[in-house]
Amino acid sequence: MNTETLWKTILADLELEVSKPVFQTFLSQTKLLELNGQTATIGCTQPMLINLIETRYQSLLKKMLDTYTKMDTRLVFTAAPRQTGKNIDGPLFTLKTPAHDASPSRIRLNPEYTFANFAVSTSNQMAYAAATAVAKSPGVSYNPLFLYGGVGVGKTHLMQAVAHEIIRQNPAARLIYCTGEEFTNEIIEAIGTKTTVNFKKKYRKLNIFLIDDIQFIAGKNAVQEEFFHTFNAIQQMGGQIVMTSDRSPDEINRLEERLRSRFEGGLTIDIGQPDFELRCAILLIKAKQRGYDLPIETAKLMATNVENPRKLEGVLIRVITESQMNNVPISGSLINNVLGSQIKETDKKNGVKPDKVIEAVADYFHIKPSQLKGDRRDRMLATPRQILYFLFRSEFNLPLMEIGGILGGRDHTTIMYGIKKVSNLMLTDRKMSADILGIKAKLFG
Ligand code: ADP
Ligand code: MG
Repeated sequence: MNTETLWKTILADLELEVSKPVFQTFLSQTKLLELNGQTATIGCTQPMLINLIETRYQSLLKKMLDTYTKMDTRLVFTAAPRQTGKNIDGPLFTLKTPAHDASPSRIRLNPEYTFANFAVSTSNQMAYAAATAVAKSPGVSYNPLFLYGGVGVGKTHLMQAVAHEIIRQNPAARLIYCTGEEFTNEIIEAIGTKTTVNFKKKYRKLNIFLIDDIQFIAGKNAVQEEFFHTFNAIQQMGGQIVMTSDRSPDEINRLEERLRSRFEGGLTIDIGQPDFELRCAILLIKAKQRGYDLPIETAKLMATNVENPRKLEGVLIRVITESQMNNVPISGSLINNVLGSQIKETDKKNGVKPDKVIEAVADYFHIKPSQLKGDRRDRMLATPRQILYFLFRSEFNLPLMEIGGILGGRDHTTIMYGIKKVSNLMLTDRKMSADILGIKAKLFG
């Protein structure tokens, strides 16, 4: 594993371990510049922060590094150039002429983040369908497309897949992929160097603008202002805009109202946490990319024990590395070693399908599954239905819209209301918690 991949893996792990502000402000500013024997040189893109990071996070970083390298490393901190460096083009990813694979503008896209490498299941099928539709005819169907969801659910992957597909069909498309942070930095730089004219020229003429983690611009007035005009200019010329965020437009604090309404003006879709099957599929894809045919049983074991796809990739890399270093096949006991003592047996829950949940709830309340799915507003059916929403969400992590879909097109606000009600009742109402336990016992044995 090269230092860059290693560090990416470590950061992905850390992102799940520390709070968001800590990750964004400190840890994400570091990179592994060199690993020479046991000495690891950690670069920090914000020289002001070096001391702070060294005192506060040295031991955490060392712990992670030691886990992966199996060494007792010594950390040295130093300043590192920013990722975009002095390159005034900043996040520019634009192709005026057909590019070769090695052209610098392609480097910003991860070549592995394609539709072909994207596994689809209930938690992400709507997002996938929308993304492929946009890639097929940008500027026509859903504009803007706004994808949101938690860390590691595949937002960046899906967005870059759109970019790959559009470039494949039309290498001359004027396309930029960048993160909200890069966009912000570039505006600040343009304002500082009085080059906002170039900036406007560059962005307002795009055919496709993909902006990842847009929530970053919230609370930054000049940036929001510029983004608003960029957005309008692109849309007026028939260009496509795709955005991702860690939360829905109405949950982004300090986002200007006019932007919020723009964001919601197209299609907004949430991507849920991946279910067990999806985690297995992702593992198989990732293993294959590294030239491994992962036995399905081992994939299942890993997927049972690790919920987040990013973390999953880290575990997979560790498992593969262990297997290579010790020259042993990938097996249950190897995974045991990597994951430590808390390992769970492959989960019984896995393989239970939504229909089975409907059946279990119906059975528990002595009603018919068709009554639960139907739209009769019978009081007797209200609680069982709400319990059903709750189970879909808590046990299967289905997105709200998905739950609405399974139950014959109910509105997501109804679903949300039901889930909240059941979760509140679970804390105060004995009968409710007993009902839930009873149904779960039926389902998972
Ligand atoms: P996000 O941007 O939502 O935080 P990423 O797109 O960075 O998540 O995904 C995290 C990792 O998980 C990436 O390596 C990505 O390829 C992988 N991943 C997530 N969802 C899928 C999927 N459905 N199919 C294949 N890989 C996935
Ligand atoms: Mg992302």
